[in-house]
Amino acid sequence: MMPATALLSIEQEKNPWLAAETRFDNAARALNLDDGVCKILKAPAREITVNIPVQLDDGRLEVFTGYRVQHSIVRGPGKGGIRYAPDVTLDEVRALASWMTWKCAVVNIPFGGAKGGVICNPTLMSDGELERLTRRYTAGIIEYIGPERDVPAPDMNTNDRVMAWIMDTYSMHVGHTTTGVVTGKPMELGGSRGRPEATGRGCMLVTLEALKRFGLKPEDTRVVIQGFGNVGGMAAKLMAAHGFKIVAIVEYDAAVYNRNGLDIKALALHRAETGSIAGFPEAEAIDRKEALFLECDVLLPAATENVITSENAARLRCRILCEGANGPTTAIADEILADKKIFVIPDILANAGGVTVSYFEWVQDRQGFFWNEDLVNTRLEEIMVGSFAAVTAYGEKHRVDNRTAAYMVALDRVANAMKLRGIYA
Ligand code: NAD
Repeated sequence: MMPATALLSIEQEKNPWLAAETRFDNAARALNLDDGVCKILKAPAREITVNIPVQLDDGRLEVFTGYRVQHSIVRGPGKGGIRYAPDVTLDEVRALASWMTWKCAVVNIPFGGAKGGVICNPTLMSDGELERLTRRYTAGIIEYIGPERDVPAPDMNTNDRVMAWIMDTYSMHVGHTTTGVVTGKPMELGGSRGRPEATGRGCMLVTLEALKRFGLKPEDTRVVIQGFGNVGGMAAKLMAAHGFKIVAIVEYDAAVYNRNGLDIKALALHRAETGSIAGFPEAEAIDRKEALFLECDVLLPAATENVITSENAARLRCRILCEGANGPTTAIADEILADKKIFVIPDILANAGGVTVSYFEWVQDRQGFFWNEDLVNTRLEEIMVGSFAAVTAYGEKHRVDNRTAAYMVALDRVANAMKLRGIYA
């Protein structure tokens, strides 16, 4: 049967807000949620737009536009990254903020969802310009952030250094050092051990759970990973160390393949030396567009959104799709994957290891007492394995796919918290 969403153009199919809405609607319908409750859960609680004057190095003044959207603060402070990019839109930030609400609820950590963005091209800006931009953006949203209000983190083109500037600006304003205002900070400023590996580790943990359903052992599992950055690179390193066969790595400029499993350490070294995975001697170069359609057990997209669409989903030849990236699959592609019986570990579960260890960072900052890496990893495993079990059990009970189940678990938790709190009038 032709899905209703199939009438969309490919551009509409890739619209992040539409994707978020489709998933929300599917879960809300399955939960039989009241219309009024849906209206509240859908609408972002607060949207802030700030125009940020910055003096450039050559003396000119420029004005940048930044956003912070707090989609929900029902279960706790807002939580979500800040991205710097020339094409950031309010729609995109809204969609990403709502994703954060559902992600935090799936893994049951006491946060709502938020996201920020500044329209700028960081590759064309000096360190000084970026610092001034960051500090003035922070000043613009300062009344709305804080350890109890909304806790930003790094996202596309922002990093621990940007978080340090935000932490310092906030601390100077309130008059005391407040490490818990952001996560993803440098270790010296209250960062958590295990945070850089957390998202990739989370992907591995849920994949290990999925393997049990297929009777597969890591050493018999062929994995294709798209993206060799924070998430994909860490997942590759940790999974290879765990015995998985990482048969292909796909980057924006090249793809490499070895049917016996790539030497991930050697590949990382090669990339560090040459700037690319291309030309890695212990592998075959393959077409990067075709690499996603290799026969494998696990496909782990960990690069960017809208990689699996109505135009290519039918060609996937994996058994398990572990979504390391946010939004790698469109809503129409979901229906094709379901027909193909591919076991999907949806993004709001698969990549939630990052926000989970961000939560640990916030807890440690507030306690002023820091955990060793083993404790971070043990607690992360408990949450990822427990959340995987809760989502898959829910899906089986209600006969829905894993993504719908994850959204249902999340919506149910947020709706319940909202009902218990009541509507303040
Ligand atoms: P990153 O910038 O560290 O790495 C992304 C990698 O993907 C880079 O090596 C880049 O060259 C590559 N890439 C970009 N476009 C590509 C393409 N079209 N084909 C192949 N490779 C491509 O970013 P990251 O932090 O690893 O994030 C990757 C994804 O995971 C994003 O969707 C992000 O939102 C999501 N995510 C990240 C975290 C985290 O903790 N970093 C947490 C949750 C979700």
